[in-house]
Amino acid sequence: MIQITTPLNFLGTVYREIRQALVDMGEMFGLLEQPAEVRDAADARELRVSGGEVVFDNVSFGYDAARPILKGITLRVPAGERWAIVGPSGSGKSTIGRLLFRFYDVNGGSIRIDGQDLRDVTQDSLHAQIGVVPQDTVLFNDTIRYNIAYGRPGASEAEIEAAARHARIHDFIIALPEGYDTAVGERGLKLSGGEKQRVGIARTLLKDPPILLLDEATSALDTETERDIQDQLRAMGEGRTVLTIAHRLSTIADADRIVVLENGLIVESGSHTALLARGGRYASLWQRQAAEEENA
Ligand code: ADP
Ligand code: MG
Repeated sequence: MIQITTPLNFLGTVYREIRQALVDMGEMFGLLEQPAEVRDAADARELRVSGGEVVFDNVSFGYDAARPILKGITLRVPAGERWAIVGPSGSGKSTIGRLLFRFYDVNGGSIRIDGQDLRDVTQDSLHAQIGVVPQDTVLFNDTIRYNIAYGRPGASEAEIEAAARHARIHDFIIALPEGYDTAVGERGLKLSGGEKQRVGIARTLLKDPPILLLDEATSALDTETERDIQDQLRAMGEGRTVLTIAHRLSTIADADRIVVLENGLIVESGSHTALLARGGRYASLWQRQAAEEENA
């Protein structure tokens, strides 16, 4: 017996060693091509959100050291206010959102929520408190129900449907042959950009977090649906801290404050009326969009 099993054990050990070597190599290559992974600090605590004040304190950041993207951004969003970030494409708007969600760590300065530095709290607790509606909602290869319920695992059927109704996607779903059981994603039903965005909005409505980050959340929708959902998002934002990254300025004209970003710097900030009166970058962006809408 011993003579037979020993060589087999030996082979098993060799096999495990080879496999481990392959895993290590994969990790090594992964590290070479990816930025240093964000990890929880050894003594990381849970983020406690009381009001939801969001502070960017002289934040600088670049995806690689050679090219700074944000060059000293300071924002102090009081708890419960709705702020908007606008500016040309590539100016760093989405990067601000990614840093708030801590996809990356800042290179300089700090980001704090209710006084707690993002680097001192667990990522799980951070992610639980921020609802993100991104430019491109990622769907899982699962049912549409799962994709919405992901916002709050354990949500009831009625809660899922209510969120879908508010996001104007319920009627679309029940018209599908398998309704909420329809498989979506790469291996299922392909949804249009606007439909995916509405699933993302339903997911966030269900999650119901104290801090909201909307990155061009309604850009893939037609004007009428956009207005409709903007109303829903505004209602959801009541009493919460909301950071809206907007392309269409008409959707953020009533924000508490509008911040104009250009080339990684804040060039203007104020209310819509104040910024129009100022006659600067925002005013010319506004006039250009008004003219475009008239032509369209
Ligand atoms: P905005 O949302 O204002 O259009 P972004 O914040 O997405 O701009 O991007 C700002 C700059 O950072 C752009 O020049 C963009 O090419 C660059 N950038 C964005 N994401 C990455 C990334 N993952 N790696 C390297 N550069 C990036
Ligand atoms: Mg963007």
